[in-house]
Amino acid sequence: MRVQGLELDGFSLGGVETCVMLPEWSLAVDVGRAPRGLLSLSHLALTHAHMDHAGGLPYHLALRQLYGVAAPAVYVPAQIARDLEALLAAWDKLQRYESQLRVCPVEVGGRYPLRRDLELVPFRTYHVVPSFGYSVVETRRKLKPELACKPGPELAALKAEGVEITNARQLTRLSVTGDTLVEVLERQPQILESDVLVLECTFLDAKKRLSDSRAGGHVHLDELRAQLSLFRGGALVLSHVSQLYKPAEVDAVLAPLAAALPFELWAMPTEEGQPPRRLNAPEP
Ligand SMILES: [Zn+2]
Ligand SMILES: [Zn+2]
Repeated sequence: MRVQGLELDGFSLGGVETCVMLPEWSLAVDVGRAPRGLLSLSHLALTHAHMDHAGGLPYHLALRQLYGVAAPAVYVPAQIARDLEALLAAWDKLQRYESQLRVCPVEVGGRYPLRRDLELVPFRTYHVVPSFGYSVVETRRKLKPELACKPGPELAALKAEGVEITNARQLTRLSVTGDTLVEVLERQPQILESDVLVLECTFLDAKKRLSDSRAGGHVHLDELRAQLSLFRGGALVLSHVSQLYKPAEVDAVLAPLAAALPFELWAMPTEEGQPPRRLNAPEP
C-alpha cells in the first residue's frame, strides 16, 4: 500500500503476527512469522521479543542461508540483545550449523544509518517487556539560496574547500510504535510529527475492558479517541488489532471516527494478501 508516497507492506494481527515492511528503504520493523517478502530486505528492527513480533527470526535466518541471501542487520533493544543471541546460539547447536547473524543492539538517543540520507532512531515505548519503537528520519539537503546563481564548477570548488553549500532539513518520514500503552503519544511527542505513524491499537470497544487492555500494555480505542487530534502528520495507520474483531467490524467502528479527522486513517491488513484499508475518503 502507498501511504503518503511511501510503500508500506506487511500485516498485523494482535498476538498472532506483526511485520511492517518498507521495501524502498530495505527495512522491516518486526519479523512476525517470517513472511517471504523479508528475504529481499537488509535491515530488520525488532520492537520487542514477544513471539508475534520476533518469533520468526530463527526461521527467517535459516531461509536466508538456504537461498544464499546475506544475513540482515538486526536492530534490537540493547536490553534483550544478549538473550536473543543466546537463543540463536542454542538453535545453531541444535541444528549443528552456524547462522550468520549481525545483531546490532540499539539505545534510545542513538541514530543508526540505513542509507546516506536515512537514519533509524529508536524511541521508548511502554509495554510489559523491554520495548522500543522506531522512527525513520530523512535528511534532505538543498542548495543555500544565496548560492543559487553560482555556476557548477564554482560550487564544486567551494565544496572542495570545505564550505557548506547546502541547508539540511530533517523529516520524520515514519514512526512505528510496536506494542505500547497510549502514553507513548504524550511521552514521545516527536512521533506525532511523523508523515506516517503506525500505532498499535489492539482493542476497539467493550469486548475488552480498558483495565485489561492496559494490564497487557496495549492501546484501547476508548483512550486513543481523545488523543487523535494531537497527531500532526499525514497518515495514521492502526496496527495489531485483536482477532476479536473481523475486518468488517474494524471498518464499522473506525469509519465514522475517520470521517471527522483532518488526516488519513488506515488499518494495517490483518493477514498476508489482504488489501490495505483507508477508512476515510481520499481527497477529491
Ligand atoms: Zn504483539
Ligand atoms: Zn507484545
